Amino acid sequence: MDVERFPVGEITTISGGTRDEIKLNRPWQVQIRVDPENCPFALGVLKEEEIIKLYRGGEWLLIENIFTPRGFHQMLVPKECWVAEKLWDLGGIEEITLALGIIEGVVRKNDHDLINVGVHSGYLAGQNIPHLHYHIFDPAGENISIFKNEQLPLRHVREVAETDSRIIFRHNGVTVVAGGHRAGQCYLFIDGHFDNIRFGEAVHRLLALYADKFRSVQGLPPDFGVGLVFKEGNFCYGTIVPVLNNWCVTEYLALMGAGVICLPWSHEKTAAHLRSGL
Ligand SMILES: [Zn+2]
Repeated sequence: MDVERFPVGEITTISGGTRDEIKLNRPWQVQIRVDPENCPFALGVLKEEEIIKLYRGGEWLLIENIFTPRGFHQMLVPKECWVAEKLWDLGGIEEITLALGIIEGVVRKNDHDLINVGVHSGYLAGQNIPHLHYHIFDPAGENISIFKNEQLPLRHVREVAETDSRIIFRHNGVTVVAGGHRAGQCYLFIDGHFDNIRFGEAVHRLLALYADKFRSVQGLPPDFGVGLVFKEGNFCYGTIVPVLNNWCVTEYLALMGAGVICLPWSHEKTAAHLRSGL
């Protein structure tokens, strides 16, 4: 059995024992239903004061999230509603690298101690609005501290996570490693400064691997979320969380500090499975 306290001992995961097989049966997953007629991000629906800036001739829009409880919360959206087949790989390499480049600029321009970036694909990953949207926000905001330990070593996640048996691939200074709180989850680390091209290429490659190696027996690539963490303007790490199993109440007990998260298979298993698709 593998036991992991990650990243800094707050939440424990265990895996292994008698069950360690990867399961691809997901009868509970449905393809997202794109609905341009009722889209809140349609150009005619967005108010002028919500739009902060246009990119690539107006094909991408940086907008203010006017419904957020957070102090700082912007969103990056393409002008058009994309079809479901375009959503699962975030529009492909060109759109991923463009979005990441814009996001990097937004992070630099806004002076926050901590910035989270999140984008999701599919209902199970938390995508309630089927129009692609990247969230860029300060997770804490005014007068809210999210850390029990202010020294939370965000920059040291890599030291804990990266082991040979968990590396999936390296791509131009980006290292992709299986790990985290969910089965199939990966971390992405980059040597040196954040680079939207190299990082975007690695994201694209990993999403293609997920779609191939974690395609369900029902024929769907997994729903997933991509998260990025920037501390004082510097990139710490990225993570991609595919939804390959459901969480039950014991996982929530773990989040409440009263239990452990039990993975249906180990991160080593995920790494070996994804490497077999390269
Ligand atoms: Zn739309």
